[in-house]
Amino acid sequence: MLSQFERYPLTFGPTPIEHLPRLTAHLGGEVEIYAKREDCNSGLAYGGNKLRKLEYIVPDAIASNADTLVSIGGVQSNHTRMVAAVAAKIGMKCRVIQEAWVPHEDAVYDRVGNIMLTRIMGAESQLVDEGFDIGIRDSWKQAIEDVKAKGGKPYAIPAGASVHKFGGLGYVGFAEEVRKQEAEMGLRFDYIVVCTVTGSTHAGMVVGFKPDGRAANVIGIDASCTPAQTRAQVLEIARNTSALVGAGEITEDDVVIKEDYAYPVYGVPSKETVEAIRLAARLEAMITDPVYEGKSMQGMIDLVQKGFFPKGSKVLYAHLGGAPALNGYSYTFRNG
Ligand code: PLP
Repeated sequence: MLSQFERYPLTFGPTPIEHLPRLTAHLGGEVEIYAKREDCNSGLAYGGNKLRKLEYIVPDAIASNADTLVSIGGVQSNHTRMVAAVAAKIGMKCRVIQEAWVPHEDAVYDRVGNIMLTRIMGAESQLVDEGFDIGIRDSWKQAIEDVKAKGGKPYAIPAGASVHKFGGLGYVGFAEEVRKQEAEMGLRFDYIVVCTVTGSTHAGMVVGFKPDGRAANVIGIDASCTPAQTRAQVLEIARNTSALVGAGEITEDDVVIKEDYAYPVYGVPSKETVEAIRLAARLEAMITDPVYEGKSMQGMIDLVQKGFFPKGSKVLYAHLGGAPALNGYSYTFRNG
């Protein structure tokens, strides 16, 4: 589906799929759990899901003759770290807006983890006192205008690289990669669990798994705590991406999102999220973060325990990255 689109390689290649035997056994052994390690996908600044998306966006940025990538996220945004990394790698400047999306208790929250890496890679990072919203923000538009006013040539990348014409392509590629790996491994995954916020990761998977009838077997775990907006954005991106690659009509039923795990708000882990992070770390040494993957891990664990996945199912947990944000949550884990 993707051969007609130019791809600029930013990742090592196909990401490993590993069986998680201790987590599987701990959860009763009736559902086999595997993880696809998107968190280990690149040597660029700890990698993560954004690189798969940016591989299809960078050729457009280069063709536009831009000299500055301009993007937006929260203070501990993985996405802005990834845009800063890509800018460094391709020799462009980078301007990122970091909004105050998360109420936090750590004194060093705005100096460590993702924002520190972003600064080290030379991006101009601007803190803006605005709350969480996955939509298009004035602060981002102003940054784009400011780059122009100073004689630069901006290339605009929205939050999460999601509402971009090519934002969904990378995770269509994920589905194609999984199909090849399934053939090599001699198995088929019944469900794919994915954290969803700005939506293009989930949307790309919906389009990619549509042809083999598994669109609705992609179980999105909302971490935005504004699920109506995320659901609408996933559907819109999936429809636009499907039109682009010719995968057929995407219906509302193709987008499955579980809304029960994002509480209390975006970026703040509940007690249950923290327990899920500890569990995956203690059973599999698999590190998940309090903003995204900890919540999807919590969701997957709860769904297994509730019997949502029929006995004998094989479940693929998409680990999308995000561990650097843990540095901003030292207070949460001060006792382990
Ligand atoms: N997991 C991590 C680690 C992320 O950085 C993001 C980014 O928002 C997500 C999950 C959610 O992906 P998306 O924004 O494409 O829905």
